[in-house]
Amino acid sequence: MTLPYTQTRWSLADLFPGYGSPELEATFTELDARVAEFETKRPELSPQIPDAAFMDFVARLEQVNELGSRLYAFAGLSFSADTQDQTAQTLVARVDQFVAELQNRVLFFSLWWKELDDENASRLMAASGDYRYWLEEMRHFKPHTLTEPEEKIINIKNVTGSNALGNLYDSITNRYTFKMTVDGEVKELTRGELMVYARHHDADLRAAAYQELYRVYGEEGPILGQIYQTLVRDWRNEQVDLRHFGSPISARNLANDIPDPVVDTLLDVSERNAGLFQRFFNLKARWLGVPRLRRYDIYAPVAKSDKRYDYPQAAELVLDSFKEFHPRLAELAQRVFDDDHLDSEVRKGKRGGAFCYSIAPKMTPYVLLNYQGRAEDVATMAHELGHAIHSMLASEHSLFTFHASLPLAETASTFGEMMLIDRLLAQEGDESVRRDMLFRQVDDAYATILRQSYFALFERQAHEMVVQNASVDDLSAAYMDNLKRQFGEAVELGDEFRWEWVSIPHIYQVPFYVYAYAFGQLLVLSMYQQYRAEGEAFKPRYLGILSAGGSEAPARVLSQAGIDIHSADFWQGGFNVLAALLDQLEALPVIH
Ligand SMILES: [Zn+2]
Repeated sequence: MTLPYTQTRWSLADLFPGYGSPELEATFTELDARVAEFETKRPELSPQIPDAAFMDFVARLEQVNELGSRLYAFAGLSFSADTQDQTAQTLVARVDQFVAELQNRVLFFSLWWKELDDENASRLMAASGDYRYWLEEMRHFKPHTLTEPEEKIINIKNVTGSNALGNLYDSITNRYTFKMTVDGEVKELTRGELMVYARHHDADLRAAAYQELYRVYGEEGPILGQIYQTLVRDWRNEQVDLRHFGSPISARNLANDIPDPVVDTLLDVSERNAGLFQRFFNLKARWLGVPRLRRYDIYAPVAKSDKRYDYPQAAELVLDSFKEFHPRLAELAQRVFDDDHLDSEVRKGKRGGAFCYSIAPKMTPYVLLNYQGRAEDVATMAHELGHAIHSMLASEHSLFTFHASLPLAETASTFGEMMLIDRLLAQEGDESVRRDMLFRQVDDAYATILRQSYFALFERQAHEMVVQNASVDDLSAAYMDNLKRQFGEAVELGDEFRWEWVSIPHIYQVPFYVYAYAFGQLLVLSMYQQYRAEGEAFKPRYLGILSAGGSEAPARVLSQAGIDIHSADFWQGGFNVLAALLDQLEALPVIH
């Protein structure tokens, strides 16, 4: 036990001793040699390849990927620990280039695999053990894969086409600065700094922050909208016309391995529950003492409790709440502390926010936090350690199958937060702190579930409108309609929100990514409901879901645990948990 827990930086020594170390240089050389060897084996790839020879390809590819991951992780983590460090910056660029070249050199294997006839593919998959799902999943794309020269042309043209447009969008929007008058002083802010005021207790500052955000985005709305139209057309040209996906969203669904009807059901059920959050916004208006909530106020703080938790206290709270569920979870989380894989201090130049980085199945994941003692910092610790536990529970799988697929990626993290909140609510005597926690839970649920579902609904509509030659103004009008359906009569909308869609990077960079947030959060809420209902009996099923990692299709992992994601009732279950939470909040006497 590393008691007392202290806030420190991590040690990357389990990866490499340091920048100039011979071990680091040797890994570049070794990787190059291993890839060269892999290339010489190419002639062995024939439909009749014996099982053992095929598995030798897989094993070699796994080794190459593992070494590549270590380099990637060392460079990336060093850079996160100090973004101003030139050596780290240079190493990131070097590794990026190096790994991209290696990927091209081994590309022939996956292309061959996707081309292979069904009969031989089934034979090889049957002999592949834990690698089966990884192999199966690659072949899902067989009907949508073009010839090698065509695939190469798409890759090359993407660099200067859609990728470049995405980068251009980033470059344009990342240089935006925002001006706000706070306490009589004009401040120049980044978007992140500006949006802190969206949660400010001063109503005028909240309004000013949003007005400034969309003043800036709106000024360039026509050009940003044009970039979006072009990316949407590119997506359709490639995914629907060239690769023959049935619809633009289907391409994403297949990458997530979620059947199209499941996503439709999820979005339908979300739409049907918009009224639930409208009820919440009405309640919030009463707490804020206003007749109707403005869109500026949806994240307004209701109570002003400012409870702090010191770092050792936070670590113990989180570990205890895990332990209460199952001792194994606490043991695994403890390993992140013991192995010095946790960077929790706040330092100048260190990357903001938080993440968990899993490198290889047998390696303890790395976790980055910027711990500042607020309740949400404790929740973030539980969240990121939840991710770490997830990948450690799946450590029996291969490098290709231990990472949970996207729809399940937030399961352990969100569940970990819920365990913590339950623990905090159980031991918290101060009503205002309890109330704050409950309000924040619904705030977060709004932001991850309803808001993201409505983004996805907008994307679905926009992708159809753009082929019908809709203008940027048409898209803005459609976006306003989307918001009106979402908020109903409960929220007053300023006209500047017509530009919100041009400010959402995800819909530019990764079309239809956003529904995964709603999927993950509702899934966890539903599961948590089952846990409360079933107690001990639920635990092995939950651990089974986590231990599966990415070794099986999400729908199958979940159905083995008795969860049917095709059923509208299952998704409604998640909303019912929120409805119960809302009942609790509505029963509280309103305090101003
Ligand atoms: Zn997460």
